[in-house]
Amino acid sequence: MDRQQEFVLRTVEERDIRFIRLWFTDVLGVLKSVAVAPAELESAFTEGIGFDGSSIQGYTRVVESDMIAKPDPTTFQILPWRGETHGTARMFCDILTPDGEHSLADTRNVLKRTLARASDMGFTFYTHPEVEFYLFESLRTDGPPVPVDQAGYFDHVARGNAHDFRRAAITMLESMGISVEFSHHEAGPGQNEIDLRYADALTTADNLMTFRSVVKEVALEQGVFASFMPKPLSDQPGSGMHSHLSLFEGDRNAFHEPGAQYELSKTARQFMAGLLHHAAEITAVTNQYVNSYKRLWGGQEAPSFVCWGHNNRSALARVPMYKPGKGVSSRIEFRAVDSAANPYLAYAVLLAAGLAGIENEYELPEPTEDVVWDLTASERKALGIKPLPQSLAEAIDIMESSELVAETLGEHVFDYFLKNKKQEWAEYRAQVTQFELKRFLPVL
Ligand code: GLN
Ligand code: MG
Ligand code: MG
Ligand code: MG
Repeated sequence: MDRQQEFVLRTVEERDIRFIRLWFTDVLGVLKSVAVAPAELESAFTEGIGFDGSSIQGYTRVVESDMIAKPDPTTFQILPWRGETHGTARMFCDILTPDGEHSLADTRNVLKRTLARASDMGFTFYTHPEVEFYLFESLRTDGPPVPVDQAGYFDHVARGNAHDFRRAAITMLESMGISVEFSHHEAGPGQNEIDLRYADALTTADNLMTFRSVVKEVALEQGVFASFMPKPLSDQPGSGMHSHLSLFEGDRNAFHEPGAQYELSKTARQFMAGLLHHAAEITAVTNQYVNSYKRLWGGQEAPSFVCWGHNNRSALARVPMYKPGKGVSSRIEFRAVDSAANPYLAYAVLLAAGLAGIENEYELPEPTEDVVWDLTASERKALGIKPLPQSLAEAIDIMESSELVAETLGEHVFDYFLKNKKQEWAEYRAQVTQFELKRFLPVL
């Protein structure tokens, strides 16, 4: 037992914790959970808990289904929504094979591997996500979902459903050690945004997994339903997860250079050049569902074209220089990622793309200060501005020939991901939609 593990055992006893949930994530980013009793905890730390990997999306094949979940004691946290007496806690797990090797299907380890590469180059990778989501009256799917209010961007909602939602959600997140920086009503009816304080990317990804559970739990407590679906309403904005990215060398922000354009260092420019260069290849990962492309191509401030700018909300990458009250804090905001991405994989491919820019010393193109949606196709062509993939089919096609994504995800996750997404596309493509019936049945 190391000190962290002993601390967990002691806390479980002192705080009367009855269930310890071991959390991990399947390849698509769905949270999995198995509860163990306190008496099992010691052996969970030393030997891990066995489970049937063949029943988890993207894990092993049936013939090699035994997998082991080993809890990471540094992620121990009591779950406040389960109450004080006979409480419940959770830890994130490493997933191992029976031989004690890291499972190739463990996406948390995909991110860890990529972070280790950054660390070999002297960098720590920090991320700060702005998470958007909707609150609905119900999750019925026999018509468009009904939002809990009709408010818009930054509106103060005086009363009504989910009035205290953000306050309750943030209080719960803070009590779990997850700091929230901003929160506000977003532009869509019932749409909200909560921004987490920046942290190293592994912590952020773990925090996002927790965040999604907390938001859903708090919504249920208030009698409403939260959804992170990228585009739940045709005529309203989608839910993005803009992510602010920076590299640090020790305590120093490696993206900051006083006096340079937007105070962006050469490292930052190369990192951003990498993001833009590989943007199309990584889109299947940052935007992994057929529905994600309705957001990217549905206007409403979601990015559709590969370019960067300073105060340009139509750009894929943006350089917001100032933080209120904190002066310059150089970082790059990448705006394609949506709220339904697997955060471990999304941050792994973003980091890999940025590092490729540094390693290969990519040149950053000129910034675009135009609203790119308003340019004509030939104007965009003249400026060298390319579109993001327009559908999941196009995105997986481009990803399939990407060395960068194959190397970053590893063969197992890469192959599984493509197979799963091709299947999703094939099923989707076979559907006759309401749109087609309405448009074609009466006239054809
Ligand atoms: N909802 C928009 C998106 O999908 C973002 C709106 C905003 O935060 N400016 O990316
Ligand atoms: Mg925001
Ligand atoms: Mg927003
Ligand atoms: Mg933003």
